[in-house]
Amino acid sequence: MRYLVLSDIHANLEALEATLAAAGECDATLALGDLVGYGADPNAVIERVQSLPRATVIRGNHDKVGAGVETVESFNHLARYAISWTAAALTPANREWLAAMRQGPVVIDDLVEICHGSPFDEDAYIFDELDARRAIVASQRPVCLFGHTHVPAVFRFDGELTSLGPPRGARHRLTLDPKAKYLINCGAVGQPRDGDPRAACGIFDTASRTVTVLRVAYDVATAQSKIIAAGLPEVLAQRLAIGR
Ligand code: ZN
Repeated sequence: MRYLVLSDIHANLEALEATLAAAGECDATLALGDLVGYGADPNAVIERVQSLPRATVIRGNHDKVGAGVETVESFNHLARYAISWTAAALTPANREWLAAMRQGPVVIDDLVEICHGSPFDEDAYIFDELDARRAIVASQRPVCLFGHTHVPAVFRFDGELTSLGPPRGARHRLTLDPKAKYLINCGAVGQPRDGDPRAACGIFDTASRTVTVLRVAYDVATAQSKIIAAGLPEVLAQRLAIGR
């Protein structure tokens, strides 16, 4: 089975299309939440994800607030502004679809489960080894794929927990040890924050037990001009160019 792993698309249609083209044929898609928020194309991104074959989609914090399932209290000023814009821009059908999204974690098969933030709390962040330690205890499968931080990361647990450091380069391939457990963040499609502005996605090949993190250059200028034209804060356009 070849899974395409997409997280934190954030209404960035240009980044999404580029990652889909770079990933090529996959058997199924795992979308780890935050389809909307920050970017200018929430409806087009939702409809593109709906069109993907065999997709399992779970909600992120921006999806919940955008759909009105949760209030904006936990959001900073910028996120708040962007999600209010998003809520107003959504079609009634897409808003309803967002509101009905599944909550993670979701077990996909014997090998893999997915969550937005962490397997014990969909809104918790896994940044460091301390966060990862709590998460690995709660994970139910050898591989737990997560998002939410917008920063690619790999943690390995075989009695001891180790951070394997961020995946590097345009195509970083990781071969999984069958005796270990993993927490893997393949990065953000639509708003990377690790200093690399390229879109990020993952391909999990269960037959070869490999996870490949792809970094894909996309048309940042068009995504930026749509953000400006929509009247969203300019800093949301600027950050796409620097990956922060
Ligand atoms: Zn996000």
